[in-house]
Amino acid sequence: MIRVGIDFDNTIVNYQGVFHKAAVDLGWLPESVGTSKQEVKHYFIDRNEESRWTELQGVVYGKAIRHAKPFEGLTQSLVQMKTDNMLLFVISHKTQYPIIGDKLDFHAAARLWLATNGLERCFDQVYFCPEKDEKVQQIADLHLDWFIDDLPSILEHDDFPEHTKGVLFDPDDHHQTFSSARRVSHWSDIPHLIRGG
Ligand SMILES: [Mg+2]
Repeated sequence: MIRVGIDFDNTIVNYQGVFHKAAVDLGWLPESVGTSKQEVKHYFIDRNEESRWTELQGVVYGKAIRHAKPFEGLTQSLVQMKTDNMLLFVISHKTQYPIIGDKLDFHAAARLWLATNGLERCFDQVYFCPEKDEKVQQIADLHLDWFIDDLPSILEHDDFPEHTKGVLFDPDDHHQTFSSARRVSHWSDIPHLIRGG
């Protein structure tokens, strides 16, 4: 059986507009600021409000995750991969609680989001790793054939296992220098890529 690991935030969960909405709802951000995560981040960083940006991330990955949607084509692709008898794992770099702000359980929020969106049944196991190195170790321990992530820093990590094929999920074409054979911008391309080996 083909074993496939998948990152969670920004690979499964599409936070498009959620940072903006959460910050506006809290009264921290003027509505006129652009809706992308980058624009919201820059707003706070430019004002030397980095701790507020950190706190906002806590709000988004905890409470406001309910406003986020699965990426387009994800559900159909996962169902197709299950039909093809693949074993699917979620491996997420996520602490259990935020560094600043209300003590919300990120792991519980993520599991609830998976259940609410009908995705729980697609996965054989879900892992949360508080440290990046632990995540890479978990990828190695599971002897995965493939791993899909939106961050090159995971796929290019020194300890990323040699026998695992890394796929960069890059919906906004941010990483055009990454090997194009292993870079996808839409979930519907992934089952085909994996079946082709
Ligand atoms: Mg991610």
